[in-house]
Amino acid sequence: MDCLFCKIIKREIPAAIVYEDEHVLAFNDINPQGPTHVLVVPKRHIPTLNDLTGDDDRIVGEIVRRAAAIAQERGISAGGFRTVFNTNRGAGQTVFHIHLHLIGGRSLHWPPG
Ligand code: AMP
Ligand code: ZN
Repeated sequence: MDCLFCKIIKREIPAAIVYEDEHVLAFNDINPQGPTHVLVVPKRHIPTLNDLTGDDDRIVGEIVRRAAAIAQERGISAGGFRTVFNTNRGAGQTVFHIHLHLIGGRSLHWPPG
């Protein structure tokens, strides 16, 4: 399958990996939008949030909790951080393997563009 993040998971493409377990991989975004910009992904290929089923509740929970744990490790929990899943092209999704953006380490404005 021609999926960039599956290739990173299989170590066919290099990435700066910050966390790995049986189900989840986290790595630095190649085009960071803040001092911390980590992508947290399931190892199983799921294209978008529209493809989730009840069977995925656990992995989605693991991804969200992992993002919070990485924020905690980096000391940005109290100050604040942003977590985003972009879904489909109208929202800016460019890689069709779900990924939670963890962005922080600077002040973030709301609403986003
Ligand atoms: P999205 O636009 O929400 O689909 O996010 C895709 C993200 O993947 C963007 O923030 C890109 O900068 C990032 N990205 C693209 N290629 C790579 C790569 N090889 N390694 C790490 N991050 C990447
Ligand atoms: Zn994939």
